Amino acid sequence: MIKTSFHFEILHASKKSRARVGKIHTPHGIIDTPNFVAVGTNGTIKSLDNTILEQIGLQLMFCNTYHLLLQPGTDIIHEAGGLHSFIKRKLPIITDSGGFQVFSLAYGSVASELKSKGTKKTDGSVLKITEEGVLFRSYRDGAKFLLTAEKSIEAQKKLGADIIIPFDELPPYHMDMKALEKSLERTHRWEERSLNAHLQNPQNQAMYAVIHGGVSNDLRGKSCEFLTALPFDGFAIGGSIGKNKQEMVDLLEFTMPRLPFEKPNHLLGIGDVESIEKCVPLGIDTFDSSYPTKAARHGLLLTKTGAIKIEKQENARNFQPIEKDCECPTCQTHSLAYLHHLYKAKELTAMSLASLHNLYYMVKLMESYRQQILDDRI
Ligand SMILES: [Zn+2]
Repeated sequence: MIKTSFHFEILHASKKSRARVGKIHTPHGIIDTPNFVAVGTNGTIKSLDNTILEQIGLQLMFCNTYHLLLQPGTDIIHEAGGLHSFIKRKLPIITDSGGFQVFSLAYGSVASELKSKGTKKTDGSVLKITEEGVLFRSYRDGAKFLLTAEKSIEAQKKLGADIIIPFDELPPYHMDMKALEKSLERTHRWEERSLNAHLQNPQNQAMYAVIHGGVSNDLRGKSCEFLTALPFDGFAIGGSIGKNKQEMVDLLEFTMPRLPFEKPNHLLGIGDVESIEKCVPLGIDTFDSSYPTKAARHGLLLTKTGAIKIEKQENARNFQPIEKDCECPTCQTHSLAYLHHLYKAKELTAMSLASLHNLYYMVKLMESYRQQILDDRI
């Protein structure tokens, strides 16, 4: 059987904004865009079995190379026949390079980094950054590990995701312009090395470049110019994109027109409901975020009229589903009162049922955005 090779089809470009409706064709099926991408760091969405994700129509899943590299190791996954076979997912998967995680573990999350003004955590696992790559200490067993562009690609070849990401550096938000420019130039060299390694054995995978440059329009412009000249299949936007939503919108308004319209793009690590609403008109095709599942584990249920806090006493005797018209497996079977009880009793089932509803909510939300774009309402 000849597998479909990667390509992007634009079905409709809005007359009102940069938004578009498209289809990303991959060897494991189609991703309708714009769409939400769930994060399954270790090859699973926390508390959910992979097979149920296909039932709710979740078309793309994001897995983290860094974590899979350290546990169980990419060799074991390769022996299992690749990530799709290992985790029993038939639909498309995207993996990152590992770069983001190495650096975010050293600097802390973007949010906590903003609070600490860029001071490195004392337990920072990054030992040394050189032209070759980044030497870090494994958070699992303390072993030293050198991650390079070539090693990241080798790992992503063993995993065999449909979309892969070149190795990049995640500079902290509070970095002076000179250091940021140096970091950007090195990231560009790493991304080009990654692309070369990938093209030696494309394996029917697509590679998205990562546009960097922090919150500087000048550097973002340079990054677009450099990376769009190379034969990447699509473009992801990474790094710090601002300390608030307005800064993010301003930065994307500058960046998006500098990317080729006919190639797909992805916004890395951002996918909360409010950001999606702001970014769809700017032409973002896919968003990945752990927000809906994290919210679910903290007892927040997403609905069209706002989030419901499951632990509120008013839910104790509410025998209706979370949302009456929701067709997710949770709402088809269970009541808010039962979810409230499970959550209060600290039963793990509460996490699964809530995560399932929240992910289904995102699937439906993105479907409605696609319809609004088709109607030129966005
Ligand atoms: Zn539901």
